[in-house]
Formats: sequence, C-alpha cells, structure tokens
Amino acid sequence: MTPAVEFRGVSVHFGATQALSPLDLSVAKGETLALLGPSGSGKSTALKALAGFVRPSAGRVLLDGEDVTDLPPHRRGLGVVVQSYALFPHLRVDGNVAFGLKARGLPRAEVAKRVAEVLELVGMGAFARRFPRELSGGQQQRVALARALAIKPGVLLLDEPLSALDAALREEMIAELLRLRAELPDTTMIHVTHDQAEALALADRIGVLRDSRLVELGPCEQLYRRPASEFTASFLGGAN
Ligand code: ADP
Ligand code: MG
Repeated sequence: MTPAVEFRGVSVHFGATQALSPLDLSVAKGETLALLGPSGSGKSTALKALAGFVRPSAGRVLLDGEDVTDLPPHRRGLGVVVQSYALFPHLRVDGNVAFGLKARGLPRAEVAKRVAEVLELVGMGAFARRFPRELSGGQQQRVALARALAIKPGVLLLDEPLSALDAALREEMIAELLRLRAELPDTTMIHVTHDQAEALALADRIGVLRDSRLVELGPCEQLYRRPASEFTASFLGGAN
C-alpha cells in the first residue's frame, strides 16, 4: 500500500548546521509514529520539512504517493499543532477553529457545523465563545488540536504538543489523544516529543533521532525491550 507519508533522502542545512541528515522514512495510513530525541536532534526540522515550513537541501517528501516538496504549506492539507498553542488572541475559540475553513472558502453554515463538530470532538463544545486568555493551558491546547483537525487532515503533525502542560494535564491530554486516535482511525499522526513515556503511550512505532540522524526505528515494544543501541536504551529507560 502507498504510505501516507514518505521522506526520501530528506536533508536540511541551516548555513553550516546540518539540522537533518538524509532521512528515509515511511509512515502508513492510520499509523501513529513518534519521533523521539533530545533537544536539537532534528525532530522539529523533520516535521517542518514535511509541512513545508523549511525547504529541504536535498530529497523529496511525498503524501499519499504525491511529491509535495514544491508545494506551499497550505496546499499540503496537513494539520499542525505546535508546543505553544499559537491561537489567535483576538479571536474567540470558534473564530480560531473556523480560521482555516474560512480561508478555504467554505460556506458559512458548513463552517459553523464543522466548528461545532470538532470542538465537541476535543471536549470543548461549551467554550466556543471564550477568548484564548480565558482558557487554561490544557484547554488552549485542545482548541489548537480542534483547529488542526477542522480541515479533516489526512496527516496530523504534533510538535511537542504537551510539553507546555503540567504533569496532570499531560496525562489527561495523552488519554485525549488516544481517544481521538480511536475515533479517527484513518488519520496518520506524527508525534514529536522528547518524552519517552509520551512516545510509548501514544505511538505504534518510534523513530529515535540523535544529532540530526534517525538512529533507530521500530515498534514501541521492540525498542523498549531490545534497543539496538545504548543511546536508545538510556533514552527509553528500557531493559538494557
Ligand atoms: P529539535 O526539534 O529536535 O529540538 P530542531 O529540529 O529544532 O531540533 O533543530 C535541529 C538543529 O538545527 C539544532 O542544532 C538547531 O539549533 C538547528 N536549527 C533549527 N532551526 C534552525 C534555524 N531556523 N536556523 C538555524 N539553525 C536551526
Ligand atoms: Mg523541536
């Protein structure tokens, strides 16, 4: 089957810095892949290359078999959630979620329907008329998730979406994301994190990045029980 996401030899340089060494990686439709690694290992750069926010120095990115390397971000149809929610502060919750739909020129009634649907999906139906500043961090992150899901993306990219939350909220959001996965079985997710527990809880497979390089890739169970390197073992706190 055609992978939902494919990196083919994708590398990224920023001046003299190699932020991403040639990356070859396929993600199946409906799969959740965690990209795990310490700060500065190239996780965000990999996501940005896929989303179109940075240009690869070499290689191609494909979505559903289509080469999208030369497409601008808004033509790739991805949902993106970043660490710092980045909601528009002057727009109410419903306005934030509607933003991408309006930009796509959807009729008003359909926008309203989809906004209500997707806020319900993340448990924020009662908060549509609030401003972001009137919400807790966890609630803001749910709205950011709703905004990303509004366009029904085939692929959802999550860049450390929980790292700004305290431990209790993080637990809650992990449960939320698991529920979401069950409700959206066709949605492919790439979840970037430096938190091994988060990766193990959420992912089907984990890719480990170190110094811009993918050093290991496999099902959670395998990485945890039989890490191929000491680095992975120490990072995952697994058997070795
Ligand atoms: P991670 O998300 O794993 O913390 P990043 O992908 O953000 O890592 O960064 C990988 C490397 O690329 C780091 O050394 C970082 O300093 C560098 N880098 C990232 N973005 C830029 C940029 N816009 N300009 C210069 N260097 C960058
Ligand atoms: Mg990052």
